[in-house]
Amino acid sequence: PGGSSSRSREEKIVVTVRLRPLNKKELLARDQVAWQCVDSHTIVSKPQAPHERSHHQSSFTFDKVFGPESFTEDVYEDGVKNVALSALMGINATIFAYGQTSSGKTYTMRGVTEKAVNDIYNHIIKTPERDFTIKISGLEIYNENVRDLLNSESGRALKLLDDPEKGTVVEKLVEETANNDQHLRHLISICEAQRQVGETALNDTSSRSHQIIRLTIQSTHRENSDCVRSYMASLNFVDLAGSERASQSQADGTRLREGCHINLSLMTLTTVIRKLSVGKRCGHIPYRDSKLTRILQHSLGGNARTAIICTLSPASTHAEQSRNTLYFANRAK
Ligand code: ADP
Ligand code: MG
Repeated sequence: PGGSSSRSREEKIVVTVRLRPLNKKELLARDQVAWQCVDSHTIVSKPQAPHERSHHQSSFTFDKVFGPESFTEDVYEDGVKNVALSALMGINATIFAYGQTSSGKTYTMRGVTEKAVNDIYNHIIKTPERDFTIKISGLEIYNENVRDLLNSESGRALKLLDDPEKGTVVEKLVEETANNDQHLRHLISICEAQRQVGETALNDTSSRSHQIIRLTIQSTHRENSDCVRSYMASLNFVDLAGSERASQSQADGTRLREGCHINLSLMTLTTVIRKLSVGKRCGHIPYRDSKLTRILQHSLGGNARTAIICTLSPASTHAEQSRNTLYFANRAK
């Protein structure tokens, strides 16, 4: 264990790496494994071509890496749970899934969200002395346009406004109050279904869009006047656009599809995270440069807590993007 200062900084941003198994398509195509976990801390590449060996980092070490046999539950327990539960104590929190398209972001995020919802309601049951109110909103950012995932009628892009008290707010975004855990799960499933509607209509939006599900958790103490503290915090679940949209080294990215352009929100987020992970002397943090970072500003940095789950494909066809994700994870930790 390190000193207390390094510890507290470490806990502000928790970085987790998860390597998924080869999928059916990759197995059918006889894709090779390019990245593998050699123990619970280390992920290494099997060099495929001689030139790779000399130029690139081929071994990365983290507090914990989760291999192909791992369960989402383990990922949640280890890196995410404490961050999520801090929102019950009035500390804003954000959980990201970062990785290239098809690396397992949505798969992991759904599981993690489900587990957090269970834990939140378990906490509520065990804390009868407090009154809790849980609200939910859902939005998608596509091409720097914000769309409401709880209001299918609103086809228009929503505006961001600067509120002197609340900071950046999304104008007219629907916020529903959850009556209980089942209701909350239902509302989350509406958000997910809405995102999929966009996906078929706009062809592969999930690789280009960011989804945010935001829970606002408020609690007040019943009657007992010694302890009248009330808490309020946001807990954000963010399924990011494919990280291939943040790579600067796209010049030789022959596998990238046409029309793939850099995603402003994702680029800005990686800059913000990098600066936050450096700590105090990081200078200006460009929250205002993109919609995503404006919306999340109060849930990133400052007192807020962040968990980043970096997802990787083991396949050799994705070897370069996986390395880019590992570089990002390394810089963020
Ligand atoms: P992304 O959201 O990053 O584009 P998905 O979450 O949609 O990727 O995952 C792509 C595919 O891989 C899906 O079919 C998903 O079920 C599967 N998958 C992802 N992660 C895992 C995992 N850890 N274990 C098993 N299957 C996984
Ligand atoms: Mg996805």
